[in-house]
Amino acid sequence: MAKKRKKQVKGKGKAKATTAKKGQKAAQEAPQPTAATFGKALRVGEGFTLADVDPRSTPAFTGDKQAGKDALVAADAELDTLQEQLFAQSRAGGRRRVLLVVQGMDTSGKGGIMRHVVGSVDPQGVEHTAFKAPSAEEKKHPFLWRIRRALPGPGMIGVFDRSHYEDVLVVRVHDLVPPAQWKRRYATINRFEETLADDDVTIVKVMLHISPQEQKARLGERLERPDKHWKFNPRDLDEREHWADYQEAYQVLLERCSTERAPWFVVPADRKWYARLAVQQLLLEHLRGLDLTWPAADFDVEEQQARLAASEV
Ligand code: AMP
Ligand code: MG
Repeated sequence: MAKKRKKQVKGKGKAKATTAKKGQKAAQEAPQPTAATFGKALRVGEGFTLADVDPRSTPAFTGDKQAGKDALVAADAELDTLQEQLFAQSRAGGRRRVLLVVQGMDTSGKGGIMRHVVGSVDPQGVEHTAFKAPSAEEKKHPFLWRIRRALPGPGMIGVFDRSHYEDVLVVRVHDLVPPAQWKRRYATINRFEETLADDDVTIVKVMLHISPQEQKARLGERLERPDKHWKFNPRDLDEREHWADYQEAYQVLLERCSTERAPWFVVPADRKWYARLAVQQLLLEHLRGLDLTWPAADFDVEEQQARLAASEV
């Protein structure tokens, strides 16, 4: 079932001012990562091998944990501003939107991306969808049906926590449909994403890459701490037994579906602070690439100022 929610708006103006101030302060102290570096370092290209990526590495960033956390806060305000410009453009008729696809093994930190990266953006501008096993209704339709319904509208940042890629991951590992059927999906997905790119959707696909040792530690923590029991699902232990099959399924989809218009980025995720910073920087890179500006007023500003000054109220 796909769960869609638009977050509630609370205290927008105030929260923003605080974030901006915090951002400015941290900006003076923290090493400044450049997003272009992250994109280059993490992009899945020709001859990519997932097994060669060290999940504890921190490509494109030389700072330590504290520096990484500071850098994240420092860039919050820019991300928020760019999203607001994207939204403003849509009010002026623009159709551009961004789709962030987040995939990763259980406990890889997908939820943390939502809270710590996308959470800094005005909730009005974000559409978040978490994809679960398909409902009875969803099963009656082709696998992309529920995906199309959840696409972000113009001006929005859509975030998918899991996605159509589950249909070549869990489905492949467990043969939930006949192999002939899931094998066709790689090409179907590429065609689909091409049509999205043609329709002004900027697609950012991120795989959070953790090690099996780190997953063991995180599952152990979920079991140890009563405040984390709600996050634990005994099924995660069954899925863990299929680690190697999942890694193979990821390798294949990364090879086949990292395209020019919709590339994959593999983010080492054993260090949560790094993964969050990297995803934020990838988003920033793509948003900056849109060359967003504030839409020009469709009224005469001076005339309106004169009217306001003359108003008796
Ligand atoms: P979670 O993200 O931990 O809430 O778990 C969601 C579960 O839904 C995971 O076990 C996914 O593998 C599963 N899931 C998501 N999409 C599909 C799909 N298309 N087919 C089967 N299972 C899916
Ligand atoms: Mg889970």
